[in-house]
Amino acid sequence: MSDYDAIIIGGGPSGSTASTLLADQGHRVLLIEKETFPRYHVGESLMPFCWFSLARLGVIDRMNEIGFTRKHSVQFATTDGRISAPFYFFQHFDHPAATTWQVERKDFDLMLLENARAKGVEVRENTTALDFLKDGDRITGVRARTGDGEPFEATAPITLDCTGRDALFQRKHGTRKRDPMLNKVSIWTLFQDAKRDPGLDEGATTIAYLPEGGWFWNIPLRNGIVSSGIVAERDYLYRESRDPAEIFAREIENNSWVKEHLAQGQQFGEYWVTGEYSYRAEHCATDGLVLVGDAFAFLDPVFSSGVFLALKSGEMAADAVNAALRNGDTSAASFASYGEDLCGHIETMRKVVYAFYDPGFSFADLIRKYPDLRARLTDVLIGNVEGQDYTDLAKAMSDFAQLPEPLDYGRVSAIV
Ligand SMILES: Cc1cc2nc3c(=O)[nH]c(=O)nc-3n(C[C@H](O)[C@H](O)[C@H](O)COP(=O)(O)OP(=O)(O)OC[C@H]3O[C@@H](n4cnc5c(N)ncnc54)[C@H](O)[C@@H]3O)c2cc1C
Repeated sequence: MSDYDAIIIGGGPSGSTASTLLADQGHRVLLIEKETFPRYHVGESLMPFCWFSLARLGVIDRMNEIGFTRKHSVQFATTDGRISAPFYFFQHFDHPAATTWQVERKDFDLMLLENARAKGVEVRENTTALDFLKDGDRITGVRARTGDGEPFEATAPITLDCTGRDALFQRKHGTRKRDPMLNKVSIWTLFQDAKRDPGLDEGATTIAYLPEGGWFWNIPLRNGIVSSGIVAERDYLYRESRDPAEIFAREIENNSWVKEHLAQGQQFGEYWVTGEYSYRAEHCATDGLVLVGDAFAFLDPVFSSGVFLALKSGEMAADAVNAALRNGDTSAASFASYGEDLCGHIETMRKVVYAFYDPGFSFADLIRKYPDLRARLTDVLIGNVEGQDYTDLAKAMSDFAQLPEPLDYGRVSAIV
């Protein structure tokens, strides 16, 4: 007899989602989270299709009560400060999902974790998973340590690795593979009382271009706070200095829109830095284990796909695990469709990310040549990837950009 039906490692959006939906289906679920919530996390801008996962979790009313900044659109700013006409999601589809949110992740993740607890998940915060328990090649649970240093072990027929970019399983087994072209560095920080655009555009995400394919994000949060970050090639960012504050100050000068908006604000807190940019694990599952969210794959954040993919893969994993538990078979083979479908969703978005970084590509040129594809492109950018075939869009984009072949890894494996 195992201690639980499922063990979830990590209480971010993917872990909260998977655990809540499994508990909803009557399973005994343990969730281990190394931090005590609320805790800071990057990744504040949501995609419209997050709405459907949040609705399934039953938290839409709670989202509205918390009063996160409303995001109606995304806009692009050239280096000399010219702004594209904002693209309003409600012009594309008439649904509550067309207004999404910019979220302080400490509040968003706490809300999701509290929801998991309320739905019956046993949540242990301040508890770190150290390693996986094994019986031969099969994962049978976790070895963990509480914040007081107390070791403990827990067993289950299935463990879900939802540890985010820490990616416990990938790191233990050396199965992380970087995306060959999306090898960027990001530096980000927060500003108080930076300039905000008026009216509907107040909560817009702005992608502001930098030279050599780099870009700034500008994400307006509540209480006059703006999250501002740079994503660019390592050689470009570190060409003169390795000091994040110096680099940040230098790059602000390289985009007039960013300069004007941040000038009246006050930077505060840390400058965070991350490298090891886009990656995917060799396998999404092995016997007794499934990888979910960033613990499986991370795609460059230019289109804010991370939380969407975390919620979506959390849902997909919960459904696959529920079926596997009911069938009494939690071997890797039970997660073949999970891996196939998830890799498919990621590949759809990955093509648009590659196009974005291709110097020969622009959205304006694409839509000028193929006006009928505007809605198809928008569908990808809002997260409408399930059950869709975007071959037509990819073919059109390849007139302007070199698009990647799908990665030939990320599916299931029976071998640890
Ligand atoms: C620079 C940058 C900008 C981004 N911007 C956006 C954005 O604007 N919009 C967007 O949607 N996404 C964005 N993302 C991506 C987004 O942050 C992630 O995709 C998302 O948080 C993934 O959710 P997750 O649940 O898989 O992992 P996480 O949210 O990282 O959660 C993992 C959890 O696991 C816990 N954990 C880790 N190791 C252990 C362990 N050993 N034991 C117990 N617990 C453990 C961690 O404490 C954490 O709480 C960005 C990412 C980066 C790097």
